[in-house]
Amino acid sequence: MQRFRELTAGVLVATADFATTNTVAVLDDGGGCALIDPGVSVADLAGLAADLSGSGLRARLGFATHPHWDHVLWSRELGDAPRYAAPGAVSITVTERDGMVSQLQESAPGHDLELFGHLVALREDEDRIPWDGPAAQLIIHDGHAPGHAAVFLPDSGVLVAGDMLSDIEIPLLDTVAHDPLGDYRAGLALLGAVPGVRWVVPGHGHAGDAAEFRRRLEADARYLDLLVAGEPFDDPRCTKEWMRTMHEEQLRTVARLAGENPA
Ligand SMILES: [Zn+2]
Repeated sequence: MQRFRELTAGVLVATADFATTNTVAVLDDGGGCALIDPGVSVADLAGLAADLSGSGLRARLGFATHPHWDHVLWSRELGDAPRYAAPGAVSITVTERDGMVSQLQESAPGHDLELFGHLVALREDEDRIPWDGPAAQLIIHDGHAPGHAAVFLPDSGVLVAGDMLSDIEIPLLDTVAHDPLGDYRAGLALLGAVPGVRWVVPGHGHAGDAAEFRRRLEADARYLDLLVAGEPFDDPRCTKEWMRTMHEEQLRTVARLAGENPA
């Protein structure tokens, strides 16, 4: 059963077996927490809920970093707290719901579909999680997915990066977007400009310190540069079959877009 562990004071991380997925809990000082991207299996979520209640904690709100099936999960045991996401992300959970449900059923069946993907859009100009717990700044961009929101906690220096800056996954572009590469680079630039990052927690992979944060920024930027160069290349993180397939698709997509819009 997955359990939370303390990353730094007031910030807990639990890691699921499925795709090394991280759930983050940000604690307030009254026994409440903000729960970011709780995942992944039914048993995982039961474990998270039991661990929280066993520690006298309750989820005051949920937050989904982006509109992919493995980041918009919830269970009755976690309570009926509001669950937020950026407006661009919430739109996708509506328009792409059927596809997300099929992916869910294939990879992590048994969830309550009434709770799956039901998110409240933050105001368009909202730049932090709306609560009176520790400040939680949102860094919203369209890299990886529309309305992708990293969460930065200035008090603890923790950057919850969503599905970027991973040590075990290559950058995964939103290949159906108009400018997937530009969107991703814009997202990386925003993350790279966040001052005072002491910890980075990716959606999938391992938490890293400040030096590791900079290393991953560079690794992701380098991956994008190599995509643009258009020659086949390897990335040490590209170890799984599904990722190799995505990698090949990204090479093709970037080459196609370059052909359509020559510089
Ligand atoms: Zn993910």
